[in-house]
Amino acid sequence: MNLGLQGRWALVCASSKGLGLGCAESLAAEGVHLVMNARGEELLRQQATRLASLYGVTVHAVPGDITSADVQAECLKAALQIDILITNAGGPPPGDFRKFTRVDWIRAVEANMLTPIELIKGSIDGMIERGFGRIVNITSSSVKAPIDVLALSNGARSGLTGFIAGLARKTAARNVTLNNLLPGAFDTDRLRSTIRAAAIQQGISEDESAAQRLKAVPAGRFGNAFEFGQACAYLCSAQAGYITGQNFLIDGGAYPGTF
Ligand code: NAP
Repeated sequence: MNLGLQGRWALVCASSKGLGLGCAESLAAEGVHLVMNARGEELLRQQATRLASLYGVTVHAVPGDITSADVQAECLKAALQIDILITNAGGPPPGDFRKFTRVDWIRAVEANMLTPIELIKGSIDGMIERGFGRIVNITSSSVKAPIDVLALSNGARSGLTGFIAGLARKTAARNVTLNNLLPGAFDTDRLRSTIRAAAIQQGISEDESAAQRLKAVPAGRFGNAFEFGQACAYLCSAQAGYITGQNFLIDGGAYPGTF
């Protein structure tokens, strides 16, 4: 299927690896030019160069912490226009909520709620004027089925989800859609580090810890960033203009509810 995105420009945040990179690559494969971002400059530039040469698109790399206002401004200015915005950042750490300080909460809210809102503020009016815009926020299955040790994620991401639900209805008539993608367990560095942390906590091996995690996934495997990126590209497609304000779980069937 041709997604009708050739020549569009996308800002994909936190995209030097993992789910963000999966989204950037799927969009590049559709002929979308990219602004890519991550804190680690070397890997970011490597990936930007790889995608540009593999798919023949223009890619600008903007290194820096996406929670900083300066980096947000630089990302938004790196292309003449942003048609597609994929928001993403590192997830907050796990732990007992009693031990989280006000600073921990503010960091989580900054990364997983306020940063996406600032980026939307900086790009959506141009989308509305031009009559095309696609905004996809990478959130988490923890929004739909909270994970007890991820209190920071459950809380901060739910705030973003509520905001998106309200805004999506205001821009739909201008072909500007806003949706959230909710990953379950995807085989990325982030997942590997949570598996390692659980193994240490329980005094078991990493393999045992991974097997435990897999038991909760009916698909019998972890997801991969490529298939996540493909779902993201579809939500950004010309054909997806009637899909807005939705929360899509991609979790291999792990969420047990009917709705
Ligand atoms: P990952 O493989 O660790 O990749 C994270 C990417 O984000 C890297 O490119 C990293 O590069 C960049 N990054 C992190 N913090 C950043 C910041 N403040 N500013 C700019 N770039 C930043 O993680 P992932 O698995 O793709 O996870 C992406 C998001 O999905 C996270 O919020 C995670 O909590 C959420 N999620 C993931 C899963 C899963 O199973 N993988 C499940 C649920 C939710 P630098 O470190 O160089 O900045």
